[in-house]
Amino acid sequence: MPVVDVYIGLGSNLADPLRQLAGAIAALAALPETCLIAQSPFYASKPVGPQDQPDFINGATHLRTSLLPLELLDQLQNIEQHHQRERIQHWGPRTLDLDLLLFGMQTINEPRLTVPHRELANRDFVLQPLLDLAPELTLPNGDTVAELRQRCPDNQLRLLNPAPSSLATPRPED
Ligand code: AMP
Repeated sequence: MPVVDVYIGLGSNLADPLRQLAGAIAALAALPETCLIAQSPFYASKPVGPQDQPDFINGATHLRTSLLPLELLDQLQNIEQHHQRERIQHWGPRTLDLDLLLFGMQTINEPRLTVPHRELANRDFVLQPLLDLAPELTLPNGDTVAELRQRCPDNQLRLLNPAPSSLATPRPED
């Protein structure tokens, strides 16, 4: 099986979204046939659409996998469902959103899967973490993520700093 570099977008606007994202990253790292290569910083952003909801927390993850695109989508949807089941009574259905942003240099147009993700070019909260992970990244059509980031609408991104402690690597003395 060929191994492919893929990028996943993560988002949550649950009252404790950092916990949701930390859990999602752990689940991504544990996927079969898959290695977690890098995790972007997290950003807070204004919601797209209805404004009477909390700000979102977003990030992106770089994975290397030999799963097929639809196998990976199934895995992402399993992780989403697991997180939504946890809190569905309290918080509604959108506790965790995982998007398959890029799958190597493949262009995919299937009923369940469009890659690159169809909203990629319009979302600074996706493009900025991608840029953090891979400043030279190019889409299959030749567009660079850096150019798209400069052109896309502003969602008032705020870098969350310092990094969430739940994701920090423990120091030896801890
Ligand atoms: P949403 O909850 O708005 O992210 O939409 C989820 C739906 O989008 C699912 O039915 C997926 O099958 C479909 N979908 C199409 N392309 C993608 C993609 N690149 N990543 C994640 N979901 C996708």
